[in-house]
Amino acid sequence: MTAPSYKRILLKLSGEVLMGEGGLAIDPAVTARVAQEIADAKEQGFELCVVVGGGNIFRGMAGAARGMDRATGDYMGMLATVMNALAVQNALEQINVQTRVQSAIPMASVCEPFIRRRAMRHLEKGRVVIFAAGTGSPFFTTDSGAALRAAEMKCDALFKGTSVDGVYDADPKTVPTAKRYETVSYDTVLADNLKVMDASAIALCRDNDIPIVVFNIRDHGNLAAVLAGEGISTTVK
Ligand code: UDP
Repeated sequence: MTAPSYKRILLKLSGEVLMGEGGLAIDPAVTARVAQEIADAKEQGFELCVVVGGGNIFRGMAGAARGMDRATGDYMGMLATVMNALAVQNALEQINVQTRVQSAIPMASVCEPFIRRRAMRHLEKGRVVIFAAGTGSPFFTTDSGAALRAAEMKCDALFKGTSVDGVYDADPKTVPTAKRYETVSYDTVLADNLKVMDASAIALCRDNDIPIVVFNIRDHGNLAAVLAGEGISTTVK
C-alpha cells in the first residue's frame, strides 16, 4: 500500500479511548499512551487537529433516556468533551508537544474560543489544535463536530480512532465471516447503515471530499503505521 499524500489531518477520538480497565473515565496512563500516538504522528511531519468526544463521561441521549431535557443533557455532554480535551492537552504537554485547546462554547478562563483563523495560525506554528465542545450546538455529536472542523480547517482526511480496526460488512463480533473493507464509498456506508460515524458527519465528509480513515487507536503504533500507508484501516471515500 502506498502512503496517501495527506499533510493536515483531523484525528477524532471517542471519549472512550481515554478510559482505563478499572472504569476510570480518564485514565492518566491510557491518556498518556494516546498522547504519544499523537506526538509520533506529529514527528512524522503531519499537521494535526484533534477532536475529542465525551462519551466516557456523559451523553445527552443517556440523560434524555432518564427523563432529562435533551438539550440540557447535550450541553453537559459538550462540557464533558472540554474535560477530555484538557486531559489530552495536559498529556501532550508532558511530552513537550505544543498544543492549544479551542472550545466551540467560549470559556475564556479555561481555553481559547474557536476562531478558525487563529487555529490555522497555531497549525502553521506546529501546534496541535484540540477542538472541544463539538459543534457547540445540542442535537449533534462530536463526529459531526469533527467533520465540520475537518472541512473548516481544510484537512486532507479525517482519521477516526476507535477500538475496531476498520469497517466491516457485518458485526465481526457476531458474524465470523464478516469482511473488513479496504475502501468503501460514503454512499454504501449510508445505504447499508454501516457503523462508522453518524449520517450527518458522513454526508458532510462526502460533500466536501474528505476521506474518513477508520483505524484502531488501541493498537500501539497503529496511527503512525496507517499514516505511513502500512497499518490496518478502512478508508471511506
Ligand atoms: N454533543 C452535542 N453537540 C455536539 C457534540 C457533542 O450536543 O456538537 C453532546 C452530545 O450529548 C454527545 C456528547 O456531547 O452525546 C458527547 O459527545 P459524543 O457522544 O459525540 O462523544 P464520543 O461518542 O465521541 O465519546
